[in-house]
Amino acid sequence: MTKKTNFNIPKEVSRVTETLQKAGFEAFLVGGCVRDLLRGKKPKDWDVTTNATPDQIVNLFPKTFYENKFGTVSVVNEDAEDETLRNVEITPYRMEAKYSDKRHPDSVSFTNNIEDDLKRRDFTVNAMALDTVSGKIIDLFDGQKDMKSKLIKAVGNPVDRFSEDALRMMRAVRFATELDFDIEKETLKAIKGRAILLDKIAKERIRDEFIKIIMSNRPDRGMEVLRETGLLKFVMPEIEEGFNIEQNKDHIYDVWTHSIKALKHSADKDFPLNIRIAALLHDVGKPKSRRRDEKKNDYTFYGHDVIGEKMSVKMLARLKFPKKDIDTISKLVRYHLFFSDVEQITLSAVRRIVRNVGPENVWDLMKVRFCDRIGMGRPKETPYRLRKYESMIDEAMRAPVTVGMLKVNGARIMEIAGEKPGPRIGFILHALLEEVLDNPELNTKEYLEEKVMKLSKLTDEKLKKIGEKGKDTKESKERKEIEEIRKKWWVK
Ligand code: ATP
Ligand code: MG
Repeated sequence: MTKKTNFNIPKEVSRVTETLQKAGFEAFLVGGCVRDLLRGKKPKDWDVTTNATPDQIVNLFPKTFYENKFGTVSVVNEDAEDETLRNVEITPYRMEAKYSDKRHPDSVSFTNNIEDDLKRRDFTVNAMALDTVSGKIIDLFDGQKDMKSKLIKAVGNPVDRFSEDALRMMRAVRFATELDFDIEKETLKAIKGRAILLDKIAKERIRDEFIKIIMSNRPDRGMEVLRETGLLKFVMPEIEEGFNIEQNKDHIYDVWTHSIKALKHSADKDFPLNIRIAALLHDVGKPKSRRRDEKKNDYTFYGHDVIGEKMSVKMLARLKFPKKDIDTISKLVRYHLFFSDVEQITLSAVRRIVRNVGPENVWDLMKVRFCDRIGMGRPKETPYRLRKYESMIDEAMRAPVTVGMLKVNGARIMEIAGEKPGPRIGFILHALLEEVLDNPELNTKEYLEEKVMKLSKLTDEKLKKIGEKGKDTKESKERKEIEEIRKKWWVK
Protein backbone atom coordinates (compact mmCIF):
# COMPACT_ATOMS: atom_id res chain seq x y z
CA MET A 1 0.00 0.00 0.00
CA THR A 2 3.00 2.29 0.44
CA LYS A 3 3.06 5.18 -1.96
CA LYS A 4 5.60 7.93 -1.87
CA THR A 5 4.37 11.24 -0.53
CA ASN A 6 6.24 14.49 -0.72
CA PHE A 7 6.82 14.36 2.98
CA ASN A 8 9.61 12.74 4.81
CA ILE A 9 7.70 10.39 7.07
CA PRO A 10 9.72 7.84 9.05
CA LYS A 11 8.77 4.22 8.58
CA GLU A 12 8.00 3.83 12.30
CA VAL A 13 5.20 6.33 11.77
CA SER A 14 3.87 5.27 8.39
CA ARG A 15 3.77 1.69 9.65
CA VAL A 16 1.32 2.80 12.32
CA THR A 17 -1.10 4.56 9.96
CA GLU A 18 -0.83 1.79 7.40
CA THR A 19 -1.49 -0.95 9.92
CA LEU A 20 -4.66 0.83 10.97
CA GLN A 21 -5.73 1.38 7.37
CA LYS A 22 -5.07 -2.24 6.39
CA ALA A 23 -7.32 -3.31 9.24
CA GLY A 24 -10.07 -1.21 7.66
CA PHE A 25 -9.85 1.91 9.80
CA GLU A 26 -9.19 5.49 8.88
CA ALA A 27 -5.89 6.89 10.13
CA PHE A 28 -4.19 10.23 9.69
CA LEU A 29 -1.28 12.20 11.02
CA VAL A 30 -2.72 15.22 12.73
CA GLY A 31 -1.91 18.49 14.51
CA GLY A 32 1.59 19.78 15.13
CA CYS A 33 3.40 17.19 13.03
CA VAL A 34 1.41 18.02 9.88
CA ARG A 35 2.07 21.71 10.47
CA ASP A 36 5.79 21.05 10.89
CA LEU A 37 5.97 18.81 7.80
CA LEU A 38 4.40 21.59 5.75
CA ARG A 39 7.03 24.02 7.03
CA GLY A 40 9.76 21.57 6.16
CA LYS A 41 10.67 21.18 9.82
CA LYS A 42 11.20 17.96 11.69
CA PRO A 43 8.21 17.33 14.00
CA LYS A 44 8.90 17.06 17.74
CA ASP A 45 6.43 14.23 18.05
CA TRP A 46 4.03 12.29 15.87
CA ASP A 47 0.32 12.14 16.53
CA VAL A 48 -2.04 9.82 14.75
CA THR A 49 -5.82 10.04 14.85
CA THR A 50 -8.20 7.26 13.86
CA ASN A 51 -11.77 6.02 14.02
CA ALA A 52 -10.61 2.81 15.75
CA THR A 53 -11.39 2.48 19.46
CA PRO A 54 -8.60 2.11 22.03
CA ASP A 55 -9.29 -1.64 22.31
CA GLN A 56 -9.15 -2.09 18.57
CA ILE A 57 -5.88 -0.14 18.43
CA VAL A 58 -4.27 -2.17 21.21
CA ASN A 59 -5.16 -5.39 19.36
CA LEU A 60 -3.35 -4.30 16.22
CA PHE A 61 0.09 -3.60 17.68
CA PRO A 62 2.43 -5.92 19.56
CA LYS A 63 3.62 -3.32 22.04
CA THR A 64 1.47 -0.46 23.30
CA PHE A 65 0.51 1.31 26.44
CA TYR A 66 -2.81 2.85 27.14
CA GLU A 67 -2.40 6.27 28.56
CA ASN A 68 -5.17 8.43 29.77
CA LYS A 69 -8.80 9.28 29.85
CA PHE A 70 -8.58 10.73 26.35
CA GLY A 71 -8.20 7.26 24.96
CA THR A 72 -4.64 7.79 23.72
CA VAL A 73 -2.72 4.62 22.94
CA SER A 74 1.04 4.81 22.50
CA VAL A 75 2.69 2.47 20.07
CA VAL A 76 6.16 1.64 21.30
CA ASN A 77 9.07 1.42 18.86
CA GLU A 78 11.78 0.38 21.26
CA ASP A 79 14.50 0.10 18.68
CA ALA A 80 14.02 3.48 17.03
CA GLU A 81 17.23 5.46 17.13
CA ASP A 82 15.43 8.79 17.01
CA GLU A 83 13.86 9.41 20.40
CA THR A 84 10.85 11.18 18.90
CA LEU A 85 9.89 7.89 17.22
CA ARG A 86 9.95 5.63 20.27
CA ASN A 87 6.31 6.42 21.10
CA VAL A 88 3.80 7.21 18.41
CA GLU A 89 0.56 8.38 19.97
CA ILE A 90 -2.75 7.31 18.51
CA THR A 91 -5.85 9.11 19.70
CA PRO A 92 -9.34 8.15 18.53
CA TYR A 93 -11.35 10.97 16.91
CA ARG A 94 -12.67 13.10 19.70
CA MET A 95 -14.96 15.97 20.19
CA GLU A 96 -15.24 18.09 23.21
CA ALA A 97 -18.50 18.92 24.84
CA LYS A 98 -19.34 22.08 26.79
CA TYR A 99 -16.73 23.84 28.91
CA SER A 100 -18.75 25.25 31.77
CA ASP A 101 -15.70 26.19 33.85
CA LYS A 102 -13.72 27.63 30.91
CA ARG A 103 -10.88 25.24 31.41
CA HIS A 104 -11.93 21.61 31.30
CA PRO A 105 -14.33 20.11 28.87
CA ASP A 106 -17.26 18.68 30.83
CA SER A 107 -16.82 15.45 28.99
CA VAL A 108 -14.75 14.02 26.21
CA SER A 109 -16.66 12.05 23.68
CA PHE A 110 -15.46 9.96 20.80
CA THR A 111 -16.82 10.46 17.33
CA ASN A 112 -16.35 8.52 14.13
CA ASN A 113 -15.95 11.60 12.09
CA ILE A 114 -12.55 13.23 11.41
CA GLU A 115 -14.26 16.57 10.80
CA ASP A 116 -15.50 16.75 14.37
CA ASP A 117 -12.01 16.02 15.60
CA LEU A 118 -10.44 18.77 13.51
CA LYS A 119 -13.13 21.24 14.56
CA ARG A 120 -12.21 21.00 18.23
CA ARG A 121 -8.56 21.91 17.58
CA ASP A 122 -7.25 25.34 18.47
CA PHE A 123 -5.77 26.96 15.36
CA THR A 124 -6.14 26.42 11.64
CA VAL A 125 -2.48 25.50 11.24
CA ASN A 126 -2.91 22.87 13.96
CA ALA A 127 -6.13 21.46 12.51
CA MET A 128 -4.94 19.61 9.44
CA ALA A 129 -4.81 15.85 8.90
CA LEU A 130 -2.49 14.05 6.51
CA ASP A 131 -3.09 10.67 4.89
CA THR A 132 0.40 9.15 4.78
CA VAL A 133 -0.51 6.77 1.96
CA SER A 134 -2.09 9.16 -0.53
CA GLY A 135 -0.27 12.25 0.70
CA LYS A 136 -3.62 14.06 0.79
CA ILE A 137 -4.24 16.72 3.37
CA ILE A 138 -7.62 17.28 4.95
CA ASP A 139 -7.72 21.00 5.51
CA LEU A 140 -11.21 22.19 6.40
CA PHE A 141 -10.22 25.58 7.76
CA ASP A 142 -7.64 26.83 5.26
CA GLY A 143 -4.69 25.97 7.44
CA GLN A 144 -2.40 25.78 4.41
CA LYS A 145 -3.39 29.27 3.38
CA ASP A 146 -2.67 30.55 6.89
CA MET A 147 0.68 28.76 6.83
CA LYS A 148 1.55 30.74 3.71
CA SER A 149 0.34 34.03 5.16
CA LYS A 150 2.04 33.14 8.46
CA LEU A 151 -1.07 33.56 10.57
CA ILE A 152 -2.31 32.01 13.79
CA LYS A 153 -6.05 31.96 13.40
CA ALA A 154 -8.60 30.31 15.67
CA VAL A 155 -10.70 27.48 14.27
CA GLY A 156 -14.26 28.82 14.27
CA ASN A 157 -15.32 31.81 16.32
CA PRO A 158 -12.33 32.97 18.37
CA VAL A 159 -14.50 34.48 21.10
CA ASP A 160 -16.20 31.16 21.73
CA ARG A 161 -13.01 29.16 21.43
CA PHE A 162 -11.15 31.26 24.01
CA SER A 163 -14.15 31.17 26.30
CA GLU A 164 -14.12 27.37 26.12
CA ASP A 165 -10.44 27.16 27.02
CA ALA A 166 -8.61 30.35 27.91
CA LEU A 167 -5.20 28.66 27.70
CA ARG A 168 -5.60 28.84 23.92
CA MET A 169 -4.84 32.56 24.16
CA MET A 170 -1.42 31.75 25.62
CA ARG A 171 -1.00 29.08 22.97
CA ALA A 172 -1.75 31.62 20.24
CA VAL A 173 1.13 33.76 21.48
CA ARG A 174 3.32 30.69 21.90
CA PHE A 175 2.80 29.47 18.33
CA ALA A 176 3.11 32.99 16.90
CA THR A 177 6.44 33.28 18.72
CA GLU A 178 7.78 29.82 17.88
CA LEU A 179 6.75 29.97 14.24
CA ASP A 180 7.40 33.68 13.77
CA PHE A 181 3.78 34.18 12.65
CA ASP A 182 1.35 36.99 13.35
CA ILE A 183 -1.93 36.51 15.14
CA GLU A 184 -4.84 37.04 12.74
CA LYS A 185 -6.86 40.20 13.37
CA GLU A 186 -10.11 38.77 14.75
CA THR A 187 -8.23 36.21 16.82
CA LEU A 188 -6.06 38.97 18.26
CA LYS A 189 -9.06 41.14 19.01
CA ALA A 190 -10.73 38.27 20.83
CA ILE A 191 -7.63 37.77 22.99
CA LYS A 192 -7.41 41.44 23.87
CA GLY A 193 -10.99 41.42 25.02
CA ARG A 194 -10.75 38.39 27.27
CA ALA A 195 -7.21 38.16 28.58
CA ILE A 196 -8.70 38.16 32.08
CA LEU A 197 -10.07 34.64 31.51
CA LEU A 198 -6.49 33.41 31.84
CA ASP A 199 -6.84 34.02 35.53
CA LYS A 200 -8.93 30.86 35.82
CA ILE A 201 -6.35 28.63 34.16
CA ALA A 202 -4.12 26.31 36.15
CA LYS A 203 -0.74 27.99 36.67
CA GLU A 204 1.15 24.89 35.56
CA ARG A 205 -0.48 25.04 32.13
CA ILE A 206 0.36 28.73 31.82
CA ARG A 207 3.93 28.04 32.94
CA ASP A 208 4.44 25.37 30.29
CA GLU A 209 3.37 27.71 27.47
CA PHE A 210 5.43 30.53 28.99
CA ILE A 211 8.51 28.29 29.03
CA LYS A 212 7.99 27.49 25.36
CA ILE A 213 7.84 31.21 24.59
CA ILE A 214 11.03 31.82 26.54
CA MET A 215 12.82 28.89 24.87
CA SER A 216 11.89 30.04 21.35
CA ASN A 217 14.32 31.95 19.14
CA ARG A 218 12.60 35.28 19.70
CA PRO A 219 11.27 35.33 23.27
CA ASP A 220 11.50 39.14 23.29
CA ARG A 221 8.91 39.23 20.55
CA GLY A 222 6.69 36.83 22.52
CA MET A 223 6.97 39.02 25.61
CA GLU A 224 5.90 42.06 23.60
CA VAL A 225 2.86 40.22 22.30
CA LEU A 226 1.97 39.03 25.81
CA ARG A 227 2.12 42.62 26.99
CA GLU A 228 0.21 44.08 24.07
CA THR A 229 -2.59 41.53 24.38
CA GLY A 230 -2.95 42.10 28.12
CA LEU A 231 -2.08 38.46 28.87
CA LEU A 232 1.13 39.37 30.67
CA LYS A 233 -0.87 40.75 33.60
CA PHE A 234 -1.97 37.18 34.30
CA VAL A 235 1.43 35.61 33.77
CA MET A 236 3.98 38.00 35.29
CA PRO A 237 2.42 41.35 36.13
CA GLU A 238 5.59 42.47 37.92
CA ILE A 239 7.69 42.46 34.78
CA GLU A 240 5.24 44.85 33.18
CA GLU A 241 5.87 47.40 35.93
CA GLY A 242 9.09 48.28 34.13
CA PHE A 243 7.25 49.49 31.05
CA ASN A 244 8.12 53.15 30.41
CA ILE A 245 10.18 53.31 33.59
CA GLU A 246 12.97 55.59 32.55
CA GLN A 247 16.40 54.81 33.98
CA ASN A 248 19.51 56.74 34.86
CA LYS A 249 21.84 58.33 32.36
CA ASP A 250 23.84 55.16 31.75
CA HIS A 251 20.83 53.58 30.10
CA ILE A 252 19.29 54.33 26.75
CA TYR A 253 16.31 52.01 27.31
CA ASP A 254 13.51 51.94 29.85
CA VAL A 255 13.46 49.00 32.29
CA TRP A 256 11.07 46.91 30.20
CA THR A 257 12.94 47.36 26.93
CA HIS A 258 16.25 46.66 28.62
CA SER A 259 14.87 43.47 30.20
CA ILE A 260 13.56 42.01 26.99
CA LYS A 261 16.70 42.97 25.12
CA ALA A 262 18.70 41.08 27.75
CA LEU A 263 16.31 38.16 27.25
CA LYS A 264 16.82 38.35 23.48
CA HIS A 265 20.56 38.10 23.91
CA SER A 266 20.16 35.00 26.09
CA ALA A 267 18.20 33.40 23.25
CA ASP A 268 20.67 34.55 20.59
CA LYS A 269 23.31 32.73 22.63
CA ASP A 270 21.05 29.72 23.04
CA PHE A 271 21.42 29.82 26.83
CA PRO A 272 19.33 27.42 28.93
CA LEU A 273 16.03 28.30 30.59
CA ASN A 274 17.29 29.49 33.97
CA ILE A 275 19.70 31.98 32.45
CA ARG A 276 17.04 33.25 30.08
CA ILE A 277 14.58 33.83 32.90
CA ALA A 278 17.25 35.45 35.08
CA ALA A 279 18.12 37.76 32.18
CA LEU A 280 14.46 38.70 31.92
CA LEU A 281 14.01 39.23 35.66
CA HIS A 282 17.34 40.67 36.70
CA ASP A 283 15.99 44.23 36.98
CA VAL A 284 12.45 43.39 38.07
CA GLY A 285 13.10 45.17 41.38
CA LYS A 286 13.90 48.46 39.67
CA PRO A 287 10.46 50.07 39.46
CA LYS A 288 9.94 49.56 43.20
CA SER A 289 13.36 50.94 44.14
CA ARG A 290 13.60 53.92 41.83
CA ARG A 291 14.30 57.22 43.59
CA ARG A 292 15.29 60.62 42.36
CA ASP A 293 18.65 61.84 43.57
CA GLU A 294 18.44 65.61 43.31
CA LYS A 295 22.15 66.13 43.84
CA LYS A 296 23.07 63.81 41.01
CA ASN A 297 20.02 64.95 39.11
CA ASP A 298 19.42 61.33 38.20
CA TYR A 299 17.58 58.18 39.28
CA THR A 300 18.97 55.63 41.69
CA PHE A 301 17.87 52.03 42.17
CA TYR A 302 19.47 51.06 45.45
CA GLY A 303 18.60 47.57 46.54
CA HIS A 304 16.87 46.58 43.31
CA ASP A 305 18.90 43.38 43.32
CA VAL A 306 17.60 42.33 46.73
CA ILE A 307 14.04 43.39 45.96
CA GLY A 308 14.37 41.62 42.60
CA GLU A 309 15.43 38.41 44.29
CA LYS A 310 12.37 38.43 46.53
CA MET A 311 10.06 39.30 43.68
CA SER A 312 11.51 36.54 41.52
CA VAL A 313 10.88 33.97 44.22
CA LYS A 314 7.28 35.09 44.50
CA MET A 315 6.64 35.24 40.78
CA LEU A 316 8.17 31.88 39.99
CA ALA A 317 6.51 30.15 42.93
CA ARG A 318 3.19 31.51 41.74
CA LEU A 319 3.82 29.87 38.37
CA LYS A 320 4.73 26.62 40.17
CA PHE A 321 8.33 26.45 39.00
CA PRO A 322 10.33 23.73 40.77
CA LYS A 323 12.00 24.93 43.95
CA LYS A 324 15.45 24.23 42.60
CA ASP A 325 14.95 26.51 39.60
CA ILE A 326 13.45 29.22 41.80
CA ASP A 327 16.54 29.08 44.00
CA THR A 328 18.96 29.31 41.11
CA ILE A 329 17.15 32.03 39.19
CA SER A 330 16.59 34.20 42.26
CA LYS A 331 20.27 33.92 43.20
CA LEU A 332 21.28 34.97 39.71
CA VAL A 333 18.99 37.98 40.05
CA ARG A 334 20.30 38.76 43.52
CA TYR A 335 23.95 38.82 42.48
CA HIS A 336 23.68 40.10 38.91
CA LEU A 337 25.40 43.38 39.74
CA PHE A 338 28.54 41.71 40.86
CA PHE A 339 30.76 41.71 37.82
CA SER A 340 30.07 45.30 36.92
CA ASP A 341 33.39 46.82 37.93
CA VAL A 342 36.14 44.36 37.39
CA GLU A 343 38.90 46.83 38.23
CA GLN A 344 37.74 47.03 41.80
CA ILE A 345 37.08 43.37 42.39
CA THR A 346 39.43 41.61 44.73
CA LEU A 347 39.96 37.90 44.68
CA SER A 348 38.39 37.54 48.12
CA ALA A 349 35.30 39.36 46.82
CA VAL A 350 35.10 36.86 43.98
CA ARG A 351 35.38 34.00 46.48
CA ARG A 352 32.52 35.52 48.44
CA ILE A 353 30.34 35.80 45.34
CA VAL A 354 31.10 32.18 44.52
CA ARG A 355 30.10 31.24 48.06
CA ASN A 356 26.87 33.27 47.79
CA VAL A 357 25.71 32.24 44.36
CA GLY A 358 27.13 28.73 44.62
CA PRO A 359 30.11 27.36 42.66
CA GLU A 360 27.69 25.59 40.35
CA ASN A 361 26.05 28.89 39.32
CA VAL A 362 28.95 31.26 39.02
CA TRP A 363 29.52 30.82 35.28
CA ASP A 364 25.82 31.30 34.70
CA LEU A 365 26.02 34.52 36.67
CA MET A 366 28.63 35.75 34.21
CA LYS A 367 26.30 34.87 31.36
CA VAL A 368 23.46 36.83 32.93
CA ARG A 369 25.82 39.75 33.19
CA PHE A 370 26.68 39.55 29.48
CA CYS A 371 22.97 39.61 28.69
CA ASP A 372 22.55 42.61 30.98
CA ARG A 373 25.34 44.46 29.23
CA ILE A 374 24.20 43.73 25.69
CA GLY A 375 20.64 44.59 26.79
CA MET A 376 21.91 48.04 27.71
CA GLY A 377 23.04 48.55 24.16
CA ARG A 378 26.71 48.38 25.16
CA PRO A 379 29.26 46.67 22.98
CA LYS A 380 30.60 43.28 23.93
CA GLU A 381 33.37 43.23 26.45
CA THR A 382 36.91 43.18 25.15
CA PRO A 383 38.49 39.75 25.11
CA TYR A 384 41.01 41.06 27.60
CA ARG A 385 38.38 41.92 30.19
CA LEU A 386 36.61 38.63 29.65
CA ARG A 387 39.80 36.71 30.21
CA LYS A 388 40.37 38.70 33.33
CA TYR A 389 36.94 37.74 34.73
CA GLU A 390 37.44 34.15 33.81
CA SER A 391 40.85 33.88 35.32
CA MET A 392 39.61 35.50 38.54
CA ILE A 393 36.75 33.05 38.84
CA ASP A 394 39.02 30.15 38.04
CA GLU A 395 41.43 31.21 40.67
CA ALA A 396 38.72 31.92 43.22
CA MET A 397 37.24 28.49 42.66
CA ARG A 398 40.49 26.82 43.52
CA ALA A 399 40.25 28.19 47.05
CA PRO A 400 37.67 26.88 49.51
CA VAL A 401 34.38 28.69 48.94
CA THR A 402 31.93 26.47 50.82
CA VAL A 403 32.06 25.00 54.31
CA GLY A 404 32.29 21.61 52.67
CA MET A 405 35.69 22.57 51.31
CA LEU A 406 37.21 23.36 54.71
CA LYS A 407 39.89 21.08 56.11
CA VAL A 408 37.74 20.38 59.17
CA ASN A 409 34.18 19.17 59.25
CA GLY A 410 31.40 18.90 61.82
CA ALA A 411 32.41 15.44 62.99
CA ARG A 412 35.95 16.58 63.64
CA ILE A 413 34.70 19.61 65.57
CA MET A 414 32.66 17.33 67.83
CA GLU A 415 35.59 15.02 68.28
CA ILE A 416 38.25 17.55 69.22
CA ALA A 417 36.18 20.20 71.00
CA GLY A 418 33.45 18.04 72.49
CA GLU A 419 30.73 20.02 70.69
CA LYS A 420 27.30 18.41 70.50
CA PRO A 421 25.34 18.20 67.25
CA GLY A 422 23.38 21.42 66.77
CA PRO A 423 23.58 24.96 65.42
CA ARG A 424 26.91 25.72 67.14
CA ILE A 425 28.68 23.50 64.64
CA GLY A 426 27.29 25.50 61.73
CA PHE A 427 28.30 28.78 63.34
CA ILE A 428 31.83 27.53 63.89
CA LEU A 429 32.12 26.34 60.30
CA HIS A 430 30.85 29.63 58.91
CA ALA A 431 33.20 31.61 61.11
CA LEU A 432 36.09 29.52 59.79
CA LEU A 433 34.99 29.92 56.20
CA GLU A 434 34.84 33.66 56.63
CA GLU A 435 38.51 33.73 57.55
CA VAL A 436 39.50 31.37 54.81
CA LEU A 437 37.67 33.44 52.19
CA ASP A 438 40.01 36.30 52.99
CA ASN A 439 43.03 34.06 53.37
CA PRO A 440 42.82 30.73 51.59
CA GLU A 441 46.22 29.65 52.88
CA LEU A 442 44.67 29.39 56.34
CA ASN A 443 42.74 26.34 55.19
CA THR A 444 44.99 23.86 56.94
CA LYS A 445 44.02 21.25 59.45
CA GLU A 446 46.36 22.63 62.07
CA TYR A 447 45.28 26.23 61.85
CA LEU A 448 41.57 25.47 61.70
CA GLU A 449 41.65 22.98 64.55
CA GLU A 450 43.40 25.47 66.74
CA LYS A 451 40.78 28.03 65.80
CA VAL A 452 37.97 25.55 66.55
CA MET A 453 39.28 25.13 70.10
CA LYS A 454 39.09 28.91 70.59
CA LEU A 455 35.67 29.34 69.03
CA SER A 456 34.32 26.43 71.02
CA LYS A 457 34.97 28.28 74.25
CA LEU A 458 32.57 31.09 73.27
CA THR A 459 29.02 31.33 74.61
CA ASP A 460 26.16 30.44 72.29
CA GLU A 461 25.32 34.06 71.84
CA LYS A 462 28.80 35.21 70.87
CA LEU A 463 29.33 32.27 68.57
CA LYS A 464 26.04 32.89 66.85
CA LYS A 465 27.00 36.48 66.26
CA ILE A 466 30.31 35.57 64.66
CA GLY A 467 28.83 32.72 62.65
CA GLU A 468 25.99 34.79 61.29
CA LYS A 469 28.22 37.66 60.50
CA GLY A 470 30.08 35.19 58.37
CA LYS A 471 26.92 34.24 56.57
CA ASP A 472 26.29 37.66 55.19
CA THR A 473 26.87 40.94 56.88
CA LYS A 474 26.35 43.02 53.83
CA GLU A 475 23.07 41.39 53.06
CA SER A 476 21.45 42.27 56.35
CA LYS A 477 22.59 45.84 56.02
CA GLU A 478 21.11 46.03 52.59
CA ARG A 479 17.85 44.53 53.73
CA LYS A 480 17.55 47.27 56.27
CA GLU A 481 18.17 49.95 53.69
CA ILE A 482 15.52 48.46 51.50
CA GLU A 483 12.99 48.44 54.24
CA GLU A 484 13.61 52.14 54.67
CA ILE A 485 13.09 52.74 50.98
CA ARG A 486 9.89 50.80 51.02
CA LYS A 487 8.57 52.62 54.05
CA LYS A 488 9.26 55.85 52.33
CA TRP A 489 7.47 54.83 49.17
CA TRP A 490 4.72 52.85 50.84
CA VAL A 491 5.40 49.70 48.96
CA LYS A 492 5.26 46.34 50.62
P1 ATP B 1 4.40 21.13 19.55
O1 ATP B 1 5.12 20.83 18.31
O2 ATP B 1 4.95 22.28 20.28
O3 ATP B 1 4.14 19.93 20.42
P2 ATP B 1 1.67 20.85 18.88
O4 ATP B 1 0.85 21.50 17.82
O5 ATP B 1 1.92 19.39 18.73
O6 ATP B 1 2.99 21.66 19.04
P3 ATP B 1 0.51 20.22 21.40
O7 ATP B 1 0.31 21.06 22.59
O8 ATP B 1 1.41 19.04 21.49
O9 ATP B 1 0.94 21.17 20.23
O10 ATP B 1 -0.96 19.75 20.95
C1 ATP B 1 -1.17 18.83 19.88
C2 ATP B 1 -2.41 19.24 19.07
O11 ATP B 1 -3.57 19.13 19.90
C3 ATP B 1 -2.39 20.67 18.58
O12 ATP B 1 -1.74 20.76 17.31
C4 ATP B 1 -3.86 21.01 18.50
O13 ATP B 1 -4.42 20.51 17.31
C5 ATP B 1 -4.46 20.22 19.65
N1 ATP B 1 -4.58 20.99 20.91
C6 ATP B 1 -3.70 20.99 21.94
N2 ATP B 1 -4.13 21.78 22.95
C7 ATP B 1 -5.31 22.28 22.57
C8 ATP B 1 -6.27 23.14 23.17
N3 ATP B 1 -6.07 23.66 24.37
N4 ATP B 1 -7.41 23.41 22.48
C9 ATP B 1 -7.61 22.89 21.25
N5 ATP B 1 -6.75 22.08 20.64
C10 ATP B 1 -5.61 21.77 21.26
MG1 MG C 1 2.93 18.15 20.23
